[in-house]
Amino acid sequence: MRIKDILWPDVPENQWHDWRWQMKNRLKGPEGLERLEKALGVDLSAQKPVLKTYKWATTPYYLDLARKRNLLEDPIGQQVIPSPFETKDTSRNSSPDPLQEQSYSPVPGLIHRYRDRVLILASSVCASYCRHCNRKRTWRSPEALSIGEKGLGRLTDYISKRPHIREVLISGGDPLLLPLNHLARLLGAIRAISTVKVIRIGSRVPVVLPMKITDRLCRLLKRFRPLWLNTHFNHPSEITRRAKAAIEKIQLSGIPVSNQTVLLKGINDRYETLHDLFCALQEIMVRPYYLFQCDHVKGTGHFRTDLHVGISIMERLWGDTGGMCIPRFVADLPGGNGKVRLIPSQLLEYENKVAVFRTFDNRLVKINMN
Ligand SMILES: *Cc1c(COP(=O)(O)O)cnc(C)c1O
Ligand code: SF4
Repeated sequence: MRIKDILWPDVPENQWHDWRWQMKNRLKGPEGLERLEKALGVDLSAQKPVLKTYKWATTPYYLDLARKRNLLEDPIGQQVIPSPFETKDTSRNSSPDPLQEQSYSPVPGLIHRYRDRVLILASSVCASYCRHCNRKRTWRSPEALSIGEKGLGRLTDYISKRPHIREVLISGGDPLLLPLNHLARLLGAIRAISTVKVIRIGSRVPVVLPMKITDRLCRLLKRFRPLWLNTHFNHPSEITRRAKAAIEKIQLSGIPVSNQTVLLKGINDRYETLHDLFCALQEIMVRPYYLFQCDHVKGTGHFRTDLHVGISIMERLWGDTGGMCIPRFVADLPGGNGKVRLIPSQLLEYENKVAVFRTFDNRLVKINMN
């Protein structure tokens, strides 16, 4: 079953592959859910009240990657169809902003937690709203681009007065949905600060709207190197021919691509799924960078796995797979405590230069390191 054949049977291929058509025809709001209900014969009545708290929109392209008619059991469907659990999240420690980004924000739209790098939230628009998003609090309606001329001046002022800031991350919302002239202005303003060495863009566009990676966009990005793109694949079925082509286009513009994955209960919390995802990423030359424990963001508790789940997956990966396929497993701690690496050490004891290690194949070896 393809959702495209059910919901959009008559759309010509060239329109389907046009990002403007995709954005215009996003399913959203209660009308979108009703359309899905009718077309697929699934009951989404418990989903509708959630939209009063958390907005909803997704691209036809992304939804079409789902293969199960019951979207609520599909790894794609679960990432984008609202769940009644979102408004019933009672997990302890959960909050709309567990990373306390607000209190690390000296200037609107800028978060400065780590000394040598800052994060800019470039817009409040995403092509598709991931239910596990850790910035659900910024999902404003109506969608609005956030940084104006004055705001941009304040951001660059803050950064240029702090020469120890060498990397600027631009995330959002999705920066690659900004009108190209806005994006060029933003990147240009950051590039003009000589102490900023590297720019990193965080975007899920290659996954949910790969046709937006146009030649024009790539030519624009190329002007602002050294620039890295960090994207967000969560499941092997997201690595389509289209997504691969988009990634390749970015890479051929001289921009390395890395990936962060969020560990999500019922979606990708099995070893085989993540193993296949990370290997497939390496095959398209995308470096798996982070695997995130799902943050304590209000409305995402139903996705959070026990810490042991991620750790045991990481242990198996280390035993079975090349290092280029293995991301770092990290948690961004509630209370604004920042990221911590979750790495079970293989050095069990070390005394008088004698170390006990647990090897990749789970043997204990005692070795004099002198
Ligand atoms: C995650 C994060 C970064 C980037 O950290 P890296 O470890 O370099 O990927 C920067 N600023 C903030 C506020 C972050 O949350
Ligand atoms: S693309 Fe990123 S910012 Fe947008 S909803 Fe998904 S996780 Fe959140």
